[in-house]
Amino acid sequence: KNGVVIVGAGHGGVQAAASLREEGYDGPVTLVGDEAELPYHKPPLSKTFIKDPAAQPQMLRADIFYSNNKIDLRLGSSVEHIDLVGKRLELGDGSHIPFDAAILATGSRPRELKLAGSDLAGVLSLRSVADARSIRDLSAKVEDVVILGGGFIGLEIAATLTLGGRRVTVVEAQDRLLGRAVAPSISAHVRQRLEAMGIRILTQTTIERLEGENGQLSGALTSHGERLPAQMAIIGIGVVPNVELGQAAGLKIANGIWVDGQLRSSQPEIFAIGDVASYRHVFSNSDVRLESVQNATDHAKLTARIITGHEGHYDSVPWFWSDIGDMKLQMVGLASASDSNVVVGDVADNKFSVYHYAGSRLIAIESVNRPADHMLGRKMLGAGFSPRPETVQAGADALKAALA
Ligand code: FAD
Repeated sequence: KNGVVIVGAGHGGVQAAASLREEGYDGPVTLVGDEAELPYHKPPLSKTFIKDPAAQPQMLRADIFYSNNKIDLRLGSSVEHIDLVGKRLELGDGSHIPFDAAILATGSRPRELKLAGSDLAGVLSLRSVADARSIRDLSAKVEDVVILGGGFIGLEIAATLTLGGRRVTVVEAQDRLLGRAVAPSISAHVRQRLEAMGIRILTQTTIERLEGENGQLSGALTSHGERLPAQMAIIGIGVVPNVELGQAAGLKIANGIWVDGQLRSSQPEIFAIGDVASYRHVFSNSDVRLESVQNATDHAKLTARIITGHEGHYDSVPWFWSDIGDMKLQMVGLASASDSNVVVGDVADNKFSVYHYAGSRLIAIESVNRPADHMLGRKMLGAGFSPRPETVQAGADALKAALA
């Protein structure tokens, strides 16, 4: 056996290696990652790490896990080329790894902003623990931070740095925060609470250029002509999938590496999982490329089962969370087709949920500080169960009774 080689040692890649062993795969498993760090959890980086000088990265698995499970972990090496004919991968140092199956778990990277001044020192983005260290080190020395982009990452960073004592302005091109991700009622609530923390939020605004002195960022000029002081700017305008390796090998690309219901690319022995994979989701019957720990983890588990000879089709209910200041946001399902919604709980109390319907079908639930709604929602959506809006309004006991 040549074994399985996994490219990318992030959330998806590490889970794939672990799941292959759990499923009883006994051939060689090689996990190649281009970061130097032992694989770690990404979500804490924007939520806590950047404001805590003593914080250490949280490992996905202990060091010993890899040797105990005969996983050949190669850190600090980049896969440069997939040789489909020879069925081997080429690494940056010129060495080769042969494979029977390969899993591309290369993730995504921050979308670059082509803007005058974006190459000034002090202009950063956040993906890796190395990025998080740069933000943490610089933020200890600055007062004013401008964040470009009012999505999850931008807002998490805004809240975290504000709690760490920085003055933060968020600049968002759309007319509301989290515009692509949540209902308008949640956007409005998040905005109000962040403003109450002292964060300045400018919607329908872009940055025309970044300005500096001696190569160091000093300010940002908005599309409304306002000059914002800033010694640090963080670009949080979304990510692009790391498709280049697969693309160069001729794999089909569709806003990510195209995969079928078994996470196989257009080349059947090559799988793609996590942020880099684009697929038709049975849940919404639409093409998606999701960026969440759940998506990467569940993809990895199914891929390991397919490689070890099981049947299966990817049908996990999508879910996601984000901690923004004192708001724990949790989303389950895909809300894009929502045509009506029901709100329960108390917005003023910072605890409420929005239940999204497409016709009479419950398709998603977005919660703020209502974890029980989220957990019950996962059960309901997993079971394909759509409660009537009256039952949702009647509360958790009525919902549980209806689900039973
Ligand atoms: P990644 O975990 O990004 O791993 C990909 C790895 O592959 C990287 O280490 C990359 O360097 C490496 N790589 C790429 N190309 C190569 C190559 N050619 N050779 C070798 N290695 C390569 N999701 C949530 O659900 N909830 C959250 O609260 C949340 N918070 C987040 C906060 C931050 C700051 C970030 C950055 C992400 C957050 N996410 C969150 C998203 C989540 O972390 C990602 O969806 C998840 O990591 C995707 O897993 P992945 O395996 O696809 O990619």
